[in-house]
Amino acid sequence: SQVPNVTLNDGREIPQLGFGVYQVSTDDIVPAVSKALEVGYRHIDTAAIYGNEEGVGQAIAESGIPREDLWITTKLWNNRHDDARAALEESLGKLGLDAVDLYLIHWPVAGQNLHVQAWESLVELQKAGLARSIGVSNFTEDHLNDVIDATDVIPAVNQIEVHPTLTVEHLIKYSTDRGIKIESWSPLGQSADLENPTITELAKTLGRTPAQVILRWHVQKGYIVFPKSTTPSRIEENFDIFDFELSADDLSAIDALNADNRVGPDPATFDLR
Ligand code: NAD
Repeated sequence: SQVPNVTLNDGREIPQLGFGVYQVSTDDIVPAVSKALEVGYRHIDTAAIYGNEEGVGQAIAESGIPREDLWITTKLWNNRHDDARAALEESLGKLGLDAVDLYLIHWPVAGQNLHVQAWESLVELQKAGLARSIGVSNFTEDHLNDVIDATDVIPAVNQIEVHPTLTVEHLIKYSTDRGIKIESWSPLGQSADLENPTITELAKTLGRTPAQVILRWHVQKGYIVFPKSTTPSRIEENFDIFDFELSADDLSAIDALNADNRVGPDPATFDLR
């Protein structure tokens, strides 16, 4: 396929562009994932809390695509940090899979302090073959240190909120310096960044759409990215980003848009269980 792979610190290769399914309803999930697979996406990012793992599994099964050609990520919810094996087995049952490609601790959970225990369980689940790669999401520098110090196992990825108006450069450098790849969630800022004048101007100049310009920025920064849409034409548009390039100046112009503009919860305080 035209989608490049990124090599993780465990040697496995993940397709750099995937399809995210946060807030995709029970009615929409099978058609949306089926459309994405038809278009050529081979990487799906879901989570137990999204409540749509069964639909993801159904679309995968109906597609007939060989399992080894797909990359499936799911995530451990906040109330299961002390119960990760059972939680993953439940997710696998819903997905209809023997193993996921990537299992993530979804949030560190402020005040709960079970993220090290959860990470120790993920290390075991990888050894047991239920999760081929393991990583974290929404981890700060301190959380990364906690799990690495406890186990000497470095997460393959840190999946964090990143988009042109939230570039979190310090945490990204800290992660990548340790061999942890960045996965950008809400890569379009849940659509807020699509209207940024720098982005719309660049899109006009390049003859592309604002979404394509932003996704291209993520790819050229080396981030793994999985935009969400349930609109077939946008699912196609978001995949069609491998026949143009942003220049070094374009990239710097987008880098300069940081405004610490979070559209999701702050990991330092988020404690929903
Ligand atoms: P996103 O930045 O991908 O934005 C999605 C929204 O942008 C869509 O609902 C649609 O309104 C709009 N959009 C998409 N493509 C478009 C296009 N081509 N033109 C115009 N508008 C378009 O936001 P997201 O869904 O929050 O993030 C993507 C994925 O990241 C999620 O589906 C999920 O897999 C993951 N995620 C993870 C976490 C986490 O805590 N780990 C949190 C949020 C999201």
